[in-house]
Amino acid sequence: MKNIFSISPFRLLALTSLLFGATACNRTASVQVMENTPTNTLFPQGDKTPAEYFTGNAFLHIMVTRDKNNDFVMGSVTFEPGARTNWHTHPKGQVLIVTEGEGLYQEKGHPAKIIRKGDVVNIPANKEHWHGANATSKMVHIALTNYQDDTNVVWLEPVKESEFLSANQTAK
Ligand code: MN
Repeated sequence: MKNIFSISPFRLLALTSLLFGATACNRTASVQVMENTPTNTLFPQGDKTPAEYFTGNAFLHIMVTRDKNNDFVMGSVTFEPGARTNWHTHPKGQVLIVTEGEGLYQEKGHPAKIIRKGDVVNIPANKEHWHGANATSKMVHIALTNYQDDTNVVWLEPVKESEFLSANQTAK
């Protein structure tokens, strides 16, 4: 746990620009250049995710939408400690790339797994699962989610507090 009072000048500068800097975003045909993005995060946090599909504070920044070449949507999802998706499935699977922090991934009927920055999770089609932060750490991942017709996710029930606690206690 980082002591906030021993924050380095570098981090303080980043934090200051996060709080006060305007984020300008220049779009061209194929390149999205972010100016003045805080130097300690790869992508902007984005918008809060819908409470009907997520528990806690989670945010989504869409990076690539489906187009004629890419039959998927790609976004960066930020989970504050305790935040997670509902249980859900993807008809054509999903790939997660963890870019920051530490969190959890769990398939129904299996123990949760700890996922950390640099980990890649290749989620099979129609496998019931959830992903998110753990109780004490923030986690950020890129998600590439494939489409089948116009569906890329089927949302199910929230991950209960008891399920989340158990996952935190038993995850490896
Ligand atoms: Mn998923």
